Amino acid sequence: MTQTERLIARLGKVRGRNGSWTAQCPAHEDKSPSLSVRETEDGRVLVHCFGGCDIQSVLGAVGMDMTDLFPDRPERYDGHTTKQVKPAFYASDLLRIASFECLVVMIAAYDMAKGKRLSNEDMERLKVAQQRIEEVVVYAGI
Ligand SMILES: [Zn+2]
Repeated sequence: MTQTERLIARLGKVRGRNGSWTAQCPAHEDKSPSLSVRETEDGRVLVHCFGGCDIQSVLGAVGMDMTDLFPDRPERYDGHTTKQVKPAFYASDLLRIASFECLVVMIAAYDMAKGKRLSNEDMERLKVAQQRIEEVVVYAGI
């Protein structure tokens, strides 16, 4: 059940469809339906009483509050939110990447310890290793 349906279910003389309804305002003596309820495409509920009631009074009269005008997040997750969602990589993947990049760094360190000069290619690869380890830290949310 969407938030709009929850609200609609508590109102009297509901008329309308397709995201737009009129109903009796629960906050004042309403003989002719003067409450307008609309559902936006992203699942928010717009409520307006043409009798002049403020939104808190209307919602309060049916036991709801402002937070009920916004969609439930799990139901309406649109895939555009980047924070607090399932990570793109799992911890095991991240550790595997970090472990491999450490190996790259270790090999370079070993070569240097033996007095071998690092080639430009090696230096570039070390930069990549450093960037990847940094990315692992970001993905892990550390
Ligand atoms: Zn009203």
